[in-house]
Amino acid sequence: MRVIEKGSIVIKDNIILKISKTEELDRNFTAKKIIDAKSKIVMPGFINSHTHIPMSYFRGLADDLPLQEWLNNYIWPTESRFLSEEFVYDASLYGTAELVKNGIVLFNDMYFFGKQTALAATKVGIRAIVGEGVLDYPFASYTKPKQMIDYAIRQHKEFADNELIDFAIAPHSIYVCKTKTLRLAAESARNNNMLLHIHVAETEKEIKDCIKHHKKRPIHYLNDIGFLGDNVIIAHGTWVDEEEQKIIQEKNASVVICTESELKLASGFAPIKEYLQNKVNVCLGTDGVASNNNLSILEEMDFIAKLHKSINQDPAMLPASKVVKMATINSAKALHKYSEIGSLEMGKKADIILIEKNILEIVPMYNVFSHLVYTINSNAVRDVIINGKLVMENRKLINVDEDELIERAKYYKSKILEI
Ligand SMILES: [Zn+2]
Repeated sequence: MRVIEKGSIVIKDNIILKISKTEELDRNFTAKKIIDAKSKIVMPGFINSHTHIPMSYFRGLADDLPLQEWLNNYIWPTESRFLSEEFVYDASLYGTAELVKNGIVLFNDMYFFGKQTALAATKVGIRAIVGEGVLDYPFASYTKPKQMIDYAIRQHKEFADNELIDFAIAPHSIYVCKTKTLRLAAESARNNNMLLHIHVAETEKEIKDCIKHHKKRPIHYLNDIGFLGDNVIIAHGTWVDEEEQKIIQEKNASVVICTESELKLASGFAPIKEYLQNKVNVCLGTDGVASNNNLSILEEMDFIAKLHKSINQDPAMLPASKVVKMATINSAKALHKYSEIGSLEMGKKADIILIEKNILEIVPMYNVFSHLVYTINSNAVRDVIINGKLVMENRKLINVDEDELIERAKYYKSKILEI
């Protein structure tokens, strides 16, 4: 969390070779390309730890509805009629471009036809952990959950040499996966050194249903069937009691809070204060744009800080620097990328964003962490470097044509309206 004034960073290939005062580095290094960051905040890129990127074209399709009604009557029927590899690729290209524009260097996704998302992410130049969704009923081109798990394992092997991409197994939730499916997913993930990504305890209804069917709360249930471990990413964790939090901490699993989505779907307020007291690793995600409706981690930072200060009637709670960690290093920890990204350190991968500070709404800046949480929005993110390569320069995406993406999104809108 140290702030270096008048500093420079030397990048060699994809690695941060040196960080120091500009004077010193100017004396000792020459570079093929020099990026002038005098008016910029230079920081580790944000990590979005829970997304459904191929849902990009569903933004604003249906809003203002309870979660189950939203899923059952709008999202799932549209998806089941619409999904194809081509659709997932196009929507992923759009969504990953949008992530980069929000200063995000890595996202942890959950969806279907993951290979297409991986290909789109590679084209845009962003890191992805692509979680292949697993459900107990036929979906996309699958009829059985084992096919979905096997697909994830196959892709995990196929993309092993791609530095930007990892695959994960992503059982959607305990309410659409039987115990047998969850056990198979957990076992398969562990045997193949993969992450497990699941929605848990998002709504109060989920807790009641879990108690009815399994006679216990979701985290106890997952623990008892051997699901929990340090490779588990729990999305939401809104209705988790203290005893369950202690289990999450003991098992070294992580929780991704998606404040805007949870607020919009009125799912409840995550027990952040208790999570922090119980030393649970908490990080941030946006969820999909169908329920957020944007991919801004800077907004998540603002929302989580203000909401929980207010709920706890404690303005000292969640200081800005802690929130910045949730959006960077905590996520890197959760996603097993701690040794590679999440902070600017010599030897780590060069995943760096530059934020303009010389603009009207940002000047004067007394404390960079305060500004990141309460003042700055994604439009101030000017440059994004991922794995040592510029993928956005002065807000222009390097590897994709933004106008083409916009035209394609309009085309899909007309197709979706036809169904
Ligand atoms: Zn989700």
